[in-house]
Amino acid sequence: MPLDIGGVATALLGHYGEEPWWWPRLLPEIPREDELLLGGVLCQQSRWERVEQVLLRLQAADLVTWPALAAADPVVLTPMLNGAAYPPTRARLLPQLAAAVLDAGGMPAILAAADPRAALLALPQVGPETADTLLAFTGTSVPVVDAYLRRVLGRLGLVDPTSTYADLRAQLAAMDVGLPWDQFHVLLVEHGIHHCLTGRPLCDVDGHPRRDYAEPRKCVAHCPPCRGCPLSDVCPRRGVVAAG
Ligand code: SF4
Repeated sequence: MPLDIGGVATALLGHYGEEPWWWPRLLPEIPREDELLLGGVLCQQSRWERVEQVLLRLQAADLVTWPALAAADPVVLTPMLNGAAYPPTRARLLPQLAAAVLDAGGMPAILAAADPRAALLALPQVGPETADTLLAFTGTSVPVVDAYLRRVLGRLGLVDPTSTYADLRAQLAAMDVGLPWDQFHVLLVEHGIHHCLTGRPLCDVDGHPRRDYAEPRKCVAHCPPCRGCPLSDVCPRRGVVAAG
């Protein structure tokens, strides 16, 4: 297999398969794009399984709609946000995000703007990674540059993981990945969780067990006894223990 991004995508898809239930799934009472933004913001600097528990607590308190969140008391929100990064700060900023979404006419209006990326970036707590995640998962196929992508593609020698977000995004956008970028993002995340771990990648052994997700099908079929990373034959960092 040649070491190009399309070959990487094909190998990862063959190993992990498709997961139509990957995200979003937990909040059927709100529109999909609302759950994407809420989950995307809460997932910043947090593990997804912890964010799921935050979302389920907010759901139980009827605090997942923008009007409810805009009116929420940060003192009430703070304990519910345990598991997300910086709960007191998020509790103060989440109502501001909700109010901004409402002021902008809601997520459909934001995504239908002449420049939806700029409209997303104008929201509090929304940076390039969250904005691109929203775009990628709502039908605009754009690269999502996150820590998993930097680690996996960096170890494979396809990108410089120290590049700026904008430079990496531009480099990736010119590549033919052969898959929608949201699907490739999912595969890179799974690879970063199951095989290409930080520090000690599992190159030639079974993948790391699934984590404890609220969606019971998520990752459940991954890395059944396998012979290791599907990219090990072409990876220059195979077996190398490193922080990068
Ligand atoms: S061979 Fe190892 S370091 Fe390379 S992509 Fe696979 S898991 Fe990561």
